[in-house]
Amino acid sequence: MKKKASDFRYNTGDTKVPWPAVGENYNAADLMEVIRFLMKGEGPEYEKRLKEVAEKIYALDEVSEPPAKLSLDVKVQEAEACVDKYLHTEGSLFTTNCTSGFEIAYKYANLGPGDEVIVPAITFIATMAYPLAVGAKLVFCDIAPDTINMDPEDLERKITPRTKMIVPVHIGGYPCDMDRIMEIAHKHDILVLEDAAHAFGAKYKGKMVGTIGDFGGFSFHEVKNITSFGEGGILCTSIDSFRPYMARSRFFGTTFERKIKDWLYDVDAMPGKYGKFVAANYSTTEIQAIGLKLQVARIDKIIAKRRAAAEYLNKRFADCDAIIPQPIGKDVEPTFHLYLLQIDPQKAGGDVQVLKKKLEEKGVTNIPHFGPLYRFNLLKEYGYDPDEIAKTCPVCEEVFYHRFTHLPLYGLTDEQFKYMADAILESVKEMQAGK
Ligand SMILES: *Cc1c(COP(=O)(O)O)cnc(C)c1O
Repeated sequence: MKKKASDFRYNTGDTKVPWPAVGENYNAADLMEVIRFLMKGEGPEYEKRLKEVAEKIYALDEVSEPPAKLSLDVKVQEAEACVDKYLHTEGSLFTTNCTSGFEIAYKYANLGPGDEVIVPAITFIATMAYPLAVGAKLVFCDIAPDTINMDPEDLERKITPRTKMIVPVHIGGYPCDMDRIMEIAHKHDILVLEDAAHAFGAKYKGKMVGTIGDFGGFSFHEVKNITSFGEGGILCTSIDSFRPYMARSRFFGTTFERKIKDWLYDVDAMPGKYGKFVAANYSTTEIQAIGLKLQVARIDKIIAKRRAAAEYLNKRFADCDAIIPQPIGKDVEPTFHLYLLQIDPQKAGGDVQVLKKKLEEKGVTNIPHFGPLYRFNLLKEYGYDPDEIAKTCPVCEEVFYHRFTHLPLYGLTDEQFKYMADAILESVKEMQAGK
């Protein structure tokens, strides 16, 4: 019988009666199902080769051991070290997903009823779910028309004495105007959480995006530029006094360095900016960590490929003055998670709804990935009035309903990119001709 290694709780060494700490382990049959899932196929040739793999896996099983731990161990540490090296940070935390990392940052702000959090009008629900859940008030900042990122001028207007957090979102991987946002935040002593879900690897004036604010959160969900087997996030902080508590904030605030009498460990409250908080469980698996480490090593190549695709589209659209190109950036380096396709409705002879329809007819998938959050029923259910909020976000209304959609930038062939560019130019021509 194979001897299972102990985990941190039951490190019993070579006792006569060991305590196998790990629950039921994965066996060769389980692993074969994972391989079948990750490397899909069908037909006799596929089945033949899969059978060959199965034979080898079963043979390997006879001479191998299962890992001691499946959660929060050396692989997680290795992945975090890679991320720290890449971001020039210290103590970055690999969490279940980006949203759970946000929660740690929000908890650090001791967010509760009466507090206000300023988020951009256009983002994903993940940005604002926690503040809403704990009874804080969401204040929607209007967007800058060229990038659809938070507009610092409107941000300044929306600050009140109750503003506790500002959450800029680098939409599509295009960096926000962080200098202005940080200047405003410092002036009013407000915490900044960068939603860098799309922006792992983006740079703003030479600094890594996500490391400029007090906290930065990245997502490795399967739809982002890189993924840690489907889910995962990184939270980093520039608050030195909180960094030693990051890892413990991911797992209930436990400590094994100090134990309560006659027991295994102790649990502390975590120190927030204005008081303490109770940590929760946002642990990641060793498998997720293997995925993250491998893909972080590829990120620069992925961004370069996406940039080339965006540059190609911009070049194709250069002679069409009805199309506003995706900003490439002078002192910023975006990740090109999405291509922001915008039109000038006057010059195009119609708005983006017409264009979207034409593109669909030509078989080109375009999706405005993010819309005005205050339009969700959820907000209404919590007493927000969408029409009143819309009046405070006029650019968001105009840009979302009339001017923009998103195009894919990755995984397409040269022919597909060419077809997409042709279809867009043709559609705009048709609109201009009143067709
Ligand atoms: C994907 C996304 C998130 C959340 O990331 P998860 O890893 O899925 O939790 C947050 N903000 C934005 C803008 C996103 O697109």
